Amino acid sequence: MTTSRNTRVAIVTGASRGIGAAVAQRLARDGFAVAINYASGSAQAEALAAELTAAGGKAIAVKADVANAEEVRAMFDTVEAQLGKVEVLVNNAGVLKTVPLADHSDALYGQAFDINVRGTFNTLREAATRLNEGGRIVNFSSTTLALNLPGYAIYNATKAAVEAFTHVFAKELRGRNITVNAVAPGPIATSLLLDGKTDEQVQAFAKMPPLQRLGQPEDIASVVAFLAGPDAGWVNGQVLRANGGLA
Ligand code: NAP
Repeated sequence: MTTSRNTRVAIVTGASRGIGAAVAQRLARDGFAVAINYASGSAQAEALAAELTAAGGKAIAVKADVANAEEVRAMFDTVEAQLGKVEVLVNNAGVLKTVPLADHSDALYGQAFDINVRGTFNTLREAATRLNEGGRIVNFSSTTLALNLPGYAIYNATKAAVEAFTHVFAKELRGRNITVNAVAPGPIATSLLLDGKTDEQVQAFAKMPPLQRLGQPEDIASVVAFLAGPDAGWVNGQVLRANGGLA
């Protein structure tokens, strides 16, 4: 399958479920040909690609562990061959384990930094040479960075690194007409937030923002669509917190 020359192409990492899946759906609706990246959720990613294709869009599911540079390189090759040159990269793939710093294992620490930081690094490095002139990059931070809640030290450290990448990379791409921004969601109703929490804990998160609800994946997908779309052309090197006013 090859898209027409005018179809803009987007890669969304970690798009088999959660926020990434909503971003893929929204970008497809906005006319992008979408590469749905996943690490293990092949059935979900393939089903989403089929759904978007049946709705008249162009979408493929592409397996790649973002923490693995070779797999990320191969993912870009596949997307270029099947959909065309990439214009939008959404670095959504991420993991969260809330464990007090003193109890964090080496393995969990490594996983958090490998996926959240190295994963973002790997795709940004590819994007530097592969993205179209006029391209857009949207990274994923988190509002937890502003909250300093116990248990979030390692996760927040990974997201601080992502914010650092965002600010510096925006400047390193000078002259290419490519913007690099990040979205920093507040609590969003996905398995990343909900798994392993009691109803009371979930309700506590829902009450935190002045808008008094959990965010939905679509709340973040619309922010990503803005940053990837024509109205955000002058927004560059920024971190946009989307959290119902939480912080
Ligand atoms: P989620 O529901 O747990 O989904 C995570 C996605 O990332 C899945 O599609 C998963 O795919 C993929 N993924 C995990 N490891 C991967 C890897 N090594 N390579 C490629 N894909 C991988 O999480 P979410 O809530 O949608 O979170 C998305 C992003 O938003 C993350 O960066 C997270 O830190 C950020 N965020 C979330 C919240 C929130 O409250 N939910 C708040 C702030 C920020 P597989 O199933 O195939 O592994």
